[in-house]
Parts: sequence; C-alpha cells; structure tokens
Amino acid sequence: MELLEDLVAANRILAEHGVIDAYGHVSIRSPDNPNRYLLSRARSPELVEEADIMEFEIDGTPVDRQNRPIYIERPIHGGIYKARPEVKAVVHAHPKWSTFLTMVGQPYQPVYAQGSLVYPMPVLDSPNSINNPVMAERLASTLGQRPAAMMKSHGAVTVGKDIVEAFVLANYMEENSYRQYMALQIGKPYVFNEKELALCREKLWNAALFKRTWDHFRAKLG
Ligand SMILES: [Zn+2]
Repeated sequence: MELLEDLVAANRILAEHGVIDAYGHVSIRSPDNPNRYLLSRARSPELVEEADIMEFEIDGTPVDRQNRPIYIERPIHGGIYKARPEVKAVVHAHPKWSTFLTMVGQPYQPVYAQGSLVYPMPVLDSPNSINNPVMAERLASTLGQRPAAMMKSHGAVTVGKDIVEAFVLANYMEENSYRQYMALQIGKPYVFNEKELALCREKLWNAALFKRTWDHFRAKLG
C-alpha cells in the first residue's frame, strides 16, 4: 500500500537527516477507521519496515500487539487525532536546532521563507515525556489549530492533511531553527514582517512545492 510505503520512507528520511533521533516517530490516521492510527512498533526510525507498522486505537491500545515493543510517547498521536479531525499525519521529533531555541526561551522567528509556514510557533511549557492522556491533551491544546508546536527542552510535533505535509513542515521548522540559531551567533537575524509573511504563506503553502521537497528527500533514499 502506497500509504505504508510513504510512512516507512518518512521515518527513514527524517532519521537520516537528523530531524528525528532514535526516539522520534511518525504516524498516519488509519484510512479504514478514523478512530485508529498506524505507527511502527518501537524501533529506530531508520530501520522501520512495512512489517513494523501496527494499528492503534485512538487511546493508544494496540489492535493486535503480538508481543511487539511499542512507543511510550504514542499518546501524542491519539491526542492530536482526537482533537483535530482533519489531521491525517503526525510527526514527533526531537530535532536539535529547534529544541535549542526552546531551552533558552528564544522564540521561533521566521527568518527563512519556508519557515514562516509554521510561525507563530506555540511551545508546550514542560519537558516531560508525553506518555499519558493528560500530557497528550496538554500538548494537543498547546498545538490548537496550528500545524506545529514545540515542547520545551524536548522536541516538536508537526501535523498535516497527509504524510507529505507533516514531513515537509518538520523539515521547514528545523531548517528555519538552524538558520535562526546560526544567525544569532553573528548578529541579530532579520525577521520577516507581516507583509512578507503573508506573501510567503500565499506562495509557499502549496501541495506541488511540498511534493517537490518530499521527492527531493525521497530520491536520496534510493
Ligand atoms: Zn519525545
């Protein structure tokens, strides 16, 4: 199934490019049941294969566990799918550059055109693991209707209407954070103004461009 191929590819690409470390994960809402989602068994994301993909109830209960290890932070996914019916894919990452900003309370600023798509960036005011329904609800309410949120000194989530969107936004967020961090080392970065932000959103929130970014990274996987 193409959806599963893409889910596997998203895990591998995000891992290869350091956006998710050994502990990040990616899910999609089940195409057959909106109250379930598909997520791999707990495994290093660069090793995920189609056979690792499991189905979970929205409360995080595996449909058919078969003794497989499961991610402790899976409530992130169900919490967001419950709160956001239109969301079809969720990325949870522990990206280095984005997390640096949250460690020192440096707000995410749009310093790069694609990075403006996830601005303004809400931040969950807790570094704790999202391993229970209460934390999952806190994260979902921090995210609100936004496409991305960061978690203080922990990581980030991005969501999308499909895996390509959630994946691409995670990349844009991390690239913007990297550029912002680096620019801060040598001066005060230029931050896009409202007019520039509006233009970026109008031109860059575009499925064809998202697909091109996806294809760029997908092709490197071979
Ligand atoms: Zn995490």
